[in-house]
Amino acid sequence: MKFLREPYYKKNIKGQLKRFDERDAGFSRGVTEGNLYASMHNQSIINLRKEIPRKTILDHSMVVAARTVDYILRKNVLAREGEAFRNRRYKLKNPNPVAITKIMKEIAHWLGVDLVGVTELNPLWVYSHWGEHNAVYTNAAKPGELIDIPPKYNRVIVLSIEMDYSVLRQTPDPEPASAMGYSKMAFCVSSLAIWIRELGYEAIPCVNEIGLSIPMAVDSGLGEMGRNGLLITREFGPRVRIGKVLTDLPLVPDSPIDIGVQRFCEKCDRCAKHCPSKAIMFGPRTDKSVDRSNSEGMLKWPINTMNCLNWWVKNGASCSVCIRVCPWNKPNRPFHRFVRLMVERDVFTRFFIFMDKLAGYGRQSKDVNYNAFQDPSVIEKDCTHQLEY
Ligand code: SF4
Ligand code: SF4
Repeated sequence: MKFLREPYYKKNIKGQLKRFDERDAGFSRGVTEGNLYASMHNQSIINLRKEIPRKTILDHSMVVAARTVDYILRKNVLAREGEAFRNRRYKLKNPNPVAITKIMKEIAHWLGVDLVGVTELNPLWVYSHWGEHNAVYTNAAKPGELIDIPPKYNRVIVLSIEMDYSVLRQTPDPEPASAMGYSKMAFCVSSLAIWIRELGYEAIPCVNEIGLSIPMAVDSGLGEMGRNGLLITREFGPRVRIGKVLTDLPLVPDSPIDIGVQRFCEKCDRCAKHCPSKAIMFGPRTDKSVDRSNSEGMLKWPINTMNCLNWWVKNGASCSVCIRVCPWNKPNRPFHRFVRLMVERDVFTRFFIFMDKLAGYGRQSKDVNYNAFQDPSVIEKDCTHQLEY
């Protein structure tokens, strides 16, 4: 791993970058172009009637239950400024930035975060306007409202949470690992924001809202963006959820890193091959968009987000196949750490990609049955036969 003076993507900037309008994001267009997100949830209910294995009422209820904390905190806390609960009188005066950064990171890990980095807030990564999806789900603004972050919020704490390796391998069948990641992240960003406010400083906790999480995560040294359009971290690959806290607490920024993802993705196209909606491109990067949900001006592998979302609707569940099949998606164990050391140096990369496939990594798991968490007597017979309508 190399620490960089500036993020790797700087050399890929080929034109004028503009702030992204969140109304053009796939999830927002999903609301305005056919209410796709709601249709996906409707399809998940229709699937219950069809008695599809691994899309049963027990599978469904686990996914929704895992998302509970996210649903509540998004509606009430996320993407907003706010006050301290108790201490509105005192302020931690002139904290040493190195010391308070170290303490903040310890607190973040104690709350349950796996990776944490800090960066200066680049205004370019803040959405220009609220999109329909986040406006509706947070109730913090109206769709189309300008997003104007006061200049005092000059730091972003970027947080990452690992999603369960075994459970996520069930994708594209419903899997509760992503939902659990959202809930844990909502808890962590909200709690960290309250910790900062109790010190007398300002904080805005967000998960997907307010700005583009991936470039902020890259700037803060958590990883690089891969062909699949996701953050790829050194520790967990793309199997992470990202959250952020915008703040005026005087924190020391981290350096961006080079872990070899760019060189790796140039030799690998497994996510593109396995994407059920053909949303991921093969071949070299481009600075052109494939639809209006991509911003132009930077060489990257743009994703056709509407292809992706339309497939989610058909599937009746979100999809993480591009996470499951990625060779960087491994448990953070000694053997995989050793292989990672090699590919970071671009040693035997093609051989490792070949071996990864041969060893069967990335295949869908149909064995892990989280219905086993339920009372066995409920699932003695096919539970879908017990549905009452
Ligand atoms: S989430 Fe699924 S459909 Fe969307 S890009 Fe990834 S693999 Fe393709
Ligand atoms: S599957 Fe391969 S090409 Fe796709 S993001 Fe992962 S390493 Fe890159």
